[in-house]
Amino acid sequence: MSDYLPPLRDMDFLFNDVFDIPAWWAQTPALADVVDGDTARAILEQAGKLIAEQVAPLNRSGDEQGCRWEAGQVRTPDGFADAYRAFAADGWVGVAGAPEYGGMGMPKVIGAQLEEMLNAANLSFGLYPMLTAGACLALLNHASEALKALYLPPMYQGRWSGSMCLTEPHAGTDLGLIRTRAEPVADGGYRISGTKIFITGGEQDLTENIIHLVLARLPDAPAGPKGISLFLVPKVRVGADGTLGEANAVGCGSIEHKMGIKASATCVMNFDGAVGYLVGEPNKGLNAMFTMMNYERLGVGIQGLALGERSYQGAIAYARDRQQGRAPTGAEVPAQLADPIIVHPDVRRMLMTMKALNEGGRAFSTYVALQLDLAKYSDDPVARAQADAKVALLTPVAKAFLTDMGLETTVHGQQVLGGHGYIREWGQEQLIRDCRITQIYEGTNGIQALDLVGRKLFADGGEAYLAVSDELTTFAEALPAACAEFSTPLLAAVRNLDELSAWLLDRAQGNPRELGAAAVEYLQVFGYTFYAYLWARMAEVCQRQAALGPFHVSKLGTARFYFARLLPRIHSLSASVRAGSDSLYLLEAGQL
Ligand SMILES: Cc1cc2nc3c(=O)[nH]c(=O)nc-3n(C[C@H](O)[C@H](O)[C@H](O)COP(=O)(O)OP(=O)(O)OC[C@H]3O[C@@H](n4cnc5c(N)ncnc54)[C@H](O)[C@@H]3O)c2cc1C
Repeated sequence: MSDYLPPLRDMDFLFNDVFDIPAWWAQTPALADVVDGDTARAILEQAGKLIAEQVAPLNRSGDEQGCRWEAGQVRTPDGFADAYRAFAADGWVGVAGAPEYGGMGMPKVIGAQLEEMLNAANLSFGLYPMLTAGACLALLNHASEALKALYLPPMYQGRWSGSMCLTEPHAGTDLGLIRTRAEPVADGGYRISGTKIFITGGEQDLTENIIHLVLARLPDAPAGPKGISLFLVPKVRVGADGTLGEANAVGCGSIEHKMGIKASATCVMNFDGAVGYLVGEPNKGLNAMFTMMNYERLGVGIQGLALGERSYQGAIAYARDRQQGRAPTGAEVPAQLADPIIVHPDVRRMLMTMKALNEGGRAFSTYVALQLDLAKYSDDPVARAQADAKVALLTPVAKAFLTDMGLETTVHGQQVLGGHGYIREWGQEQLIRDCRITQIYEGTNGIQALDLVGRKLFADGGEAYLAVSDELTTFAEALPAACAEFSTPLLAAVRNLDELSAWLLDRAQGNPRELGAAAVEYLQVFGYTFYAYLWARMAEVCQRQAALGPFHVSKLGTARFYFARLLPRIHSLSASVRAGSDSLYLLEAGQL
């Protein structure tokens, strides 16, 4: 019996009531014959069942057992291989993959919900298909037709997996420093040599082959990021007819022993003249890799949300059951020696915070996924371009804010359980350990914030930002008077964000340190403001109902909590932004 319940009701609410997604599918030629509301519901129910029954039960045992490395071979924990095969057999690895290569062709909004469920059930497990889906996307967009035809079908089927080989011992954030070399050879291919570290799923025993996407330098490449190319390097070489041949010259030197995601193999990968194939153009590898990295960034944000949801499910069940003390207003269950802890204001504060951040986060990830679908499938080129710009702006926010909120949420979940939250068998401490990496990999959250303020915010004269600000303002202004409790603070929050952005632009002109000093807190103000927009949208849907059922009562109450208790965080964060960079540099490096 699983202790994870896929939040299908909430997903249904977002799809049908808040974003009206099936109606958009029906009027979009590229999707009208592909998917409808019933198909989406059936997919999420079916995938959710498998995930809850077969993947979630391996979460704790996977954490206890971890991956093991022996003479270059990695063994995943017991049960992983069978569950992976079941997951792949249902076609879920290629759920959003291109149909012409055997993918299911579903829109990203469906893929995003599936990712949430999978990561909530078992983040370590979820990383293997997620990296594969990201690698497929990079190949689809940048590889030659021959490479796509050979590699994509078995990857979508889950028979082969993908890995992303960027990081080297001396090159993490600064990929311009990488040293891995690619030598052209007479047959038109390349020989790849170098060492990559921290490679998720670089080696494992789940699939027949592993397709590494590797950043490397050609002999005549310019120094820095403009001299990096992308190569496909299979673990086992593949014949022209797709059959597997001899082992390639790539191996796993060791795996890392780490704080969390212990069932995900984090590998040191040695490339010793391995056969590789160029993907995209020479020296344009970072561009091509960004296709995969942007995909993974939303995916990593969803990981934070997923762990927050799993933590909430454990915490709410515990808080209803655990009896300690009495309610401040007098005994609520006099027949028992004590009331359940859910009566206490502080426990309420933690549970409501978790619920508000999770449901706001799910609305946010769905919104961003929908923009990705608009950018890809809309038949209106203007709408496609606008959605594309919005995705670029929101991706760093999604990655960093969802994972920051994920960590806060899992810590609350642990706290609700008191001492038991610190004990392994309750599962809460694992969620925190697993969540912590989401703030670090795929570009640390500090780097995401720099990307937001340094590249995205003021790009094209701030056009994407102005479009978002306008969307929020227009929505708030159009709300009926009955929604003033949401529209008034939302408008104030958007005005605050507008002023903060203008202030930042102004300050950045005079001092190159200002953007970096403000970035993290600015991103959080952005995130809380955007959640306010989504909470107002959800609340408005509830207020439109003729009769409020339990779901809508819960949603509306949570919206009110969000506006009362969480949105005000923007004031202290904005004050920190406006404090500027001076106080960061009062001490010399040696005095810190
Ligand atoms: C479990 C795990 C799995 C991973 N999986 C993969 C994978 O599959 N593939 C892959 O290629 N990599 C992977 N990574 C690597 C991961 O993406 C990097 O660790 C991460 O991007 C940070 O790089 P770094 O560790 O070298 O830190 P550094 O780049 O050394 O950064 C250290 C600190 O300095 C800050 N910093 C660095 N530069 C700047 C700057 N310019 N401005 C402001 N602050 C800065 C960072 O934010 C950070 O706080 C994984 C890592 C781990 C731990």
